[in-house]
Amino acid sequence: SEPLLEVDDLTVQYQTDDGMLTATSNASFSISDGEFFGLAGESGSGKSTLAKAIIGGLDDNGQVSSGTIKYRGEEIQDLSDKELSQRIRWKEISWIPQGAMSSLDPLQRVSEQALEIGNVHTDLPDEEIRDKLKETFDIVGLQESRIDDYPHQFSGGMQQRAIIALALFLEPELVIADEPTTALDVIMQDQIFKHLDRLKDELDVSLLLITHDISVIFESCDSVAIMHASQIAERGTTNAVHANPRHPYAFMFKEAFPDIREPKRELEVIEGHPPELMGEVDFCSFADRCPWAAPECREGAPPTESAGDDDPSHVTACVRREEAYELYQSDTS
Ligand code: ATP
Ligand code: MG
Repeated sequence: SEPLLEVDDLTVQYQTDDGMLTATSNASFSISDGEFFGLAGESGSGKSTLAKAIIGGLDDNGQVSSGTIKYRGEEIQDLSDKELSQRIRWKEISWIPQGAMSSLDPLQRVSEQALEIGNVHTDLPDEEIRDKLKETFDIVGLQESRIDDYPHQFSGGMQQRAIIALALFLEPELVIADEPTTALDVIMQDQIFKHLDRLKDELDVSLLLITHDISVIFESCDSVAIMHASQIAERGTTNAVHANPRHPYAFMFKEAFPDIREPKRELEVIEGHPPELMGEVDFCSFADRCPWAAPECREGAPPTESAGDDDPSHVTACVRREEAYELYQSDTS
């Protein structure tokens, strides 16, 4: 069946004083109905840029330079802000931006904020909007009676859950959550992820979960894409990527985080820095940091090809993936 969201060969650039900066380079992936898709990668790799491009929320100096974003088969990358607002945002795709903890208006009850959103984007009567908010409060583990609270009456974790409830109450098909728990402690993170499972069971919503912490994605998502400096290095089902990472960045990044499936190993730090991303990124953006890089890695952007295991969706963008993996295994064994 047709994917819910299909991003194809997407390049997103920012105009800067030094020229064009490429934040997302030829990214492709798709999300199907009910799928939880995780986008991982270190700071500056282009995760938020990708999310903003999908929802039409790029900064003024940013633009989709090439490629397409299809929502239920319709290209949406060129829709006007007005069309996106009337047809797509909140009702079809909702977005919890990075740093959204401070996005609740301190002067308004949460229910008032929901009414404002609901009145702009739907024709629903107020009572129905309140009922929908109560239902989603329940799903994220907040008491229904608290929809009329002011944000300061909630703890940090509860505020974040209220923000998630606001992203959900109009029953969107896809929620984009950009680092939704990064500011929270581990216990609160666990509470939120427990509730994310309920979203899947009860709402059949799809999720694009963005986080630098890949262990969170391995725990909660069906599929994953790992980005390094504007490029998707590897993507596939979480099981396949977890079991058989092929891109050197994928296996090194995986080892940079604790993993409850392999609790005892040591965490590895990836040395070096990503390259400047001015102009076109027509080379592997990991080459400077990759212990297994060869001259061919700097001669053209790496093609995205099958990782060669049982998962047909598992692909990797490394011309040396086979040699690198063998060398890696002999290094670590
Ligand atoms: P983080 O994990 O820190 O949130 P990220 O993966 O979300 O990082 P982005 O915020 O998408 O990364 O940034 C990708 C690149 O684009 C970075 O080099 C960043 O400095 C640059 N960038 C982001 N916004 C702008 C902008 N408005 N103008 C110029 N460059 C930008
Ligand atoms: Mg970000």
